[in-house]
Amino acid sequence: MKERISIVTGDITTQETDAIVNAANTSLLGGGGVDGAIHRAAGKQLLEECRTLGGCETGGAKITKGYNLKAKYVIHTVGPVWNGGKYGEREKLAGCYKNSLALAEKHKVKSIAFPSISTGIYRFPIEEACRIALKEIKSFLKNNNIMEKVVIVCFDKNTYEEYEKANYEK
Ligand code: ADP
Repeated sequence: MKERISIVTGDITTQETDAIVNAANTSLLGGGGVDGAIHRAAGKQLLEECRTLGGCETGGAKITKGYNLKAKYVIHTVGPVWNGGKYGEREKLAGCYKNSLALAEKHKVKSIAFPSISTGIYRFPIEEACRIALKEIKSFLKNNNIMEKVVIVCFDKNTYEEYEKANYEK
């Protein structure tokens, strides 16, 4: 299964996977960080489609087309803001991965790229975020034979090293 997971450094907007995941906010109307980068690269039509979706709850996911991106789909998920861990942040982050992968499966996506959800502006502790991400991705892959590749795209070297470390823990 590890062969189907790759951890890379780079920019998620240039990934050639069938779908890329956006770490969005509940409005789904764009923001900073990876969200801003995806909207800039996809073009105005992405925002137009997002306007029709009525937002998204934390831990949930919604799908749109990819427009100017190489990816056919963008799966928008809303990570939790870290507030010390007593507000269901871990379960909500797990929900982001579960719900994004379930939507991908429904749309017969064979390859998908994730950013490091919630570990930027939303301040989720990186070590724990990596463990949650990998646990959910691995348990999905165990029950799914259509998904050929899950790429975790890390924007900086520290994030990359944390995912690598978590991937070899078990
Ligand atoms: P959140 O609000 O969920 O924390 P951010 O966008 O602030 O989302 O950060 C999530 C992660 O995405 C961070 O590790 C950040 O460095 C990274 N990131 C920012 N831009 C990009 C990009 N173009 N491609 C991939 N990752 C990115």
